[in-house]
Amino acid sequence: MSQQNVRVRFAPSPTGPLHIGGVRTALFNYFYARQHGGTFILRIEDTDSQRFVQGAEEYINESLKWCGIHIDEGVAEGGEFGPYRQSERKAIYKQYADQLVESGNAYYAFDTAEELDAMRKEAEAKGEAFTYGYKIRNNMQTSLALSADEVQKRIDAGEQWVIRFKMPENEDVVMNDIIRGEVTVNTSTLDDKVLFKSADMLPTYHLANVTDDYLMQISHVIRGEEWLPSLPLHVLLYRALGWTDKMPQFAHLPLLLKPSGNGKLSKRDGDKMGFPVFPLEWKSAQGEISRGYREDGYLPDAFVNLLALLGWNSGTDQEIFSMDELVEKFSLERVNKSGARFDPEKAKWFNHQYLIKRDDKDLAREFAKIVEANGASADIDKVEKIVGLVKERVSFTHELWEQASFFFVAPSEYDEAPVKKFWKEDTASIMRELIEVIQSVETFETANIEPAIKNFINEKGYGMGKVMNALRLSLVGESKGPGVADICELLGRDETVSRINSAVKVLG
Ligand code: GLU
Repeated sequence: MSQQNVRVRFAPSPTGPLHIGGVRTALFNYFYARQHGGTFILRIEDTDSQRFVQGAEEYINESLKWCGIHIDEGVAEGGEFGPYRQSERKAIYKQYADQLVESGNAYYAFDTAEELDAMRKEAEAKGEAFTYGYKIRNNMQTSLALSADEVQKRIDAGEQWVIRFKMPENEDVVMNDIIRGEVTVNTSTLDDKVLFKSADMLPTYHLANVTDDYLMQISHVIRGEEWLPSLPLHVLLYRALGWTDKMPQFAHLPLLLKPSGNGKLSKRDGDKMGFPVFPLEWKSAQGEISRGYREDGYLPDAFVNLLALLGWNSGTDQEIFSMDELVEKFSLERVNKSGARFDPEKAKWFNHQYLIKRDDKDLAREFAKIVEANGASADIDKVEKIVGLVKERVSFTHELWEQASFFFVAPSEYDEAPVKKFWKEDTASIMRELIEVIQSVETFETANIEPAIKNFINEKGYGMGKVMNALRLSLVGESKGPGVADICELLGRDETVSRINSAVKVLG
């Protein structure tokens, strides 16, 4: 790889909440920039005012921040190559559109939307696709067909126009993609894309994107596969503008696929199967709320890790990577060409892995709030111990209450199936004996409680499983939870005895 200065950009359009595929694009750019001591740029591509959505830019910023992505140059951060919002660069683009017209690589077109619509319908009626390209451009109302005087007259008269790229006829464009290798496309299949519109005096995506990548000295364009079809045009624009020697290298990341593996992952898949496709919660102008990973209880490190493995692998079995490790190990050469299937269960698994690694003290602080919200109270040391005992069983902090509520609230009823299975005729009298054992344990902690109970069962020749399960049922109300002796210790002697007494009373 050349020793050039790495400058990459994430260039979202603020047209709504950022999809997780977009976050992955940002991350891969970020890993690459950091690894090479380069610069990560956030450029807001907002030249399409029709699709502009209020709040989307803030959402993008907040999402990147939540993921731990540090922006080197951007709207808020500033930088030498600003402004970084395309709508504020309006004055820059027209000269390049003019340059393309002057060099014969682009032309003015005056066709109205109605005229184009009519032509499209006519073609469709004949079962053909309508393409605005070399076959028709000389017969349309274009600067290729009209005299220079006529063109100027129309412009001066305020007629609406666009500038279209004059796609070469029947030429093989050979392109290089770091992930896909050499890709060749023949230009006969491509249309004459609009580059600039008089309606708002703004460039379209293609011209703005290529111009800004050039002006911002972008070294690598790392973006989603959906932009691969635009690559021939972009490469030809670099050539037409005389910028080929400054053209960035390209890498098109594979699509994110539905859990079934068939087709692109959409918001509807998430709604149907109960997982978010957005990093943060999003409320649309219509008031519709879309779930976010953050609000669903994902830890940002887990979210970054799970996205990193959608389309990239390290070539080893390792699956847990911190941000620093990703920066160190990531490589574009190890990004797959084929789509990356999204697995919602695996996503939860990642969060579980990060949750169990968390410090019990931190987790306890969070869980204590949930305990209080459930109307219970407990001192923080106790909550910390409880969290340590049950965190293996959950993927999210909010699932802790379900696993640990019995520590705070005594059971008011007993699960039917274990009662049938473990609470026999003699159980009540065994439990009364067990209370005496519990009363006689010296320091009431697991290390003493466990052998005391076991010795008692062995000495009396009772069934270990039967007694332990009945005890658990008395304390928890169901057959779940961590070790019984641990539960006893945390409940304390009095509460343990009181719960056994209640069970004996209710179950007889
Ligand atoms: N504005 C485009 C988008 O919304 C950028 C594509 C690119 O990175 O070139 O994804």
